[in-house]
Amino acid sequence: MNIPKTSFPRIVIIGGGFAGIALAKKLSKQEVQVILLDKNNYHTFQPLLYQVSTGGLEPDSIAYPIRKILKDFPNFYFRLANVESINHQDKLVNTNIGELNFDYLVIASGSQTNYYGNSEIKKHSMAMKTIPQSLNLRSLILENFEDALLTPDLNERNALMNFVIVGGGPTGVELAGALAEIKKGILPKDYPDLDTRLAQIHIVQGENRLLYGMSNKSSEKAEKFLEKLGVHVWKNLRVTNYDGTTVTTNSDVSFETATVVWAAGVKGATINGIDAKDLIGPGNRIMVNEFNQVKGFSDIFAIGDIAFMKTKKFPNGLPMVAQPAIQQGRLLGENLIRIVKKKPLKSFVYKDKGSMATIGRNKAVVDLKKFKFQGVFAWYVWMFVHLFFIIGFRNRIIVFINWVYNYIRFDREARLIIRPYKKSHKS
Ligand SMILES: Cc1cc2nc3c(=O)[nH]c(=O)nc-3n(C[C@H](O)[C@H](O)[C@H](O)COP(=O)(O)OP(=O)(O)OC[C@H]3O[C@@H](n4cnc5c(N)ncnc54)[C@H](O)[C@@H]3O)c2cc1C
Repeated sequence: MNIPKTSFPRIVIIGGGFAGIALAKKLSKQEVQVILLDKNNYHTFQPLLYQVSTGGLEPDSIAYPIRKILKDFPNFYFRLANVESINHQDKLVNTNIGELNFDYLVIASGSQTNYYGNSEIKKHSMAMKTIPQSLNLRSLILENFEDALLTPDLNERNALMNFVIVGGGPTGVELAGALAEIKKGILPKDYPDLDTRLAQIHIVQGENRLLYGMSNKSSEKAEKFLEKLGVHVWKNLRVTNYDGTTVTTNSDVSFETATVVWAAGVKGATINGIDAKDLIGPGNRIMVNEFNQVKGFSDIFAIGDIAFMKTKKFPNGLPMVAQPAIQQGRLLGENLIRIVKKKPLKSFVYKDKGSMATIGRNKAVVDLKKFKFQGVFAWYVWMFVHLFFIIGFRNRIIVFINWVYNYIRFDREARLIIRPYKKSHKS
């Protein structure tokens, strides 16, 4: 991999997501050699993927080059590499560009869409976990309307304009709200010769309320906001299959649709070699102790979505959201230096800063530790927090300008079919 050997201990990080980047930043001025491996040369700000899917933002504004993040850090190396396996006996990682030895290894590989073993759903539905997937969804949504305009078959037209979102968490809710706003504000202008009132947006939630991880009040408000926007909210309903045409559920409700977005869950993106059954906990996540050490290892760590850390408050593991990933990355940076200096390690304590979701223009719900609020103010808070956490000054400015423009003009200019997507092309 063309990386020099030095007298410093070598720390290899797999993954430049929230966790990996927070860790790298913490190690930036230390006497260690750090090698960050990622299969993409950019960091993705996943919370805004839905805006890329719905033409609100260009993909570049939610991505940031990893090399640029690391450019001022001495003893840092980035390699664009897909890590294929880990050989813990020989302290090696095997990648598509060769092997690399490590003194300490940090797995920060995040998560992937969980289809719960249903290959039909995996084959026919759309995921929204990466930028390419979000671009596929953007193309598909727009192509559906172009096709709806042409077909003389009413059933086919309805199916093309019928959108089913599976999963009533923040991702599903935010996407449903954005689609509803497109239906209301953009479709009638773009397609004056199509009866876009026929477009339907359904959100299907297995639990008895949306935003199950948030307060009852936020769930109720989010549901009200969505219904006001014309979204059909289905609760206590589980999707059992989708064959590319019909969505079946655990009741007699079914949907004829050309587009299903699967936002019903994620699971850990494990890597061969550290995936033995006794290392993997619920959600396909790697079991770690309070120092993020992988069960049975003192020199291999896992942080972020991939790490299953059980606490008193979170017996099913910490939530798979950005804050635990960032906080674990930061503490592990400190702990790795402690290990090198032979000092005792600090235990991880999760500081829950709350959660939030936006449903659309002037509509958001925010649950903080002491305050819970919904509506316009919550929407401003949501925007401020997201702008604050996006990496890169330019990205912040671009996202801000886009949001102001979209707000004033009731518009989403990135509704472009740059890379056409046909469902039949899906492998
Ligand atoms: C659509 C969506 C919306 C979300 N909204 C929110 C939100 O509003 N608020 C919130 O707090 N959280 C949100 N989340 C969750 C949040 O994005 C994750 O919890 C967070 O990204 C986890 O950080 P991580 O570093 O563990 O993993 P990630 O950020 O996923 O990073 C993992 C990195 O590892 C790399 N990688 C994986 N496998 C390999 C391999 N084998 N070889 C090389 N590189 C590899 C990937 O390319 C990636 O860069 C959302 C997630 C999604 C998908």
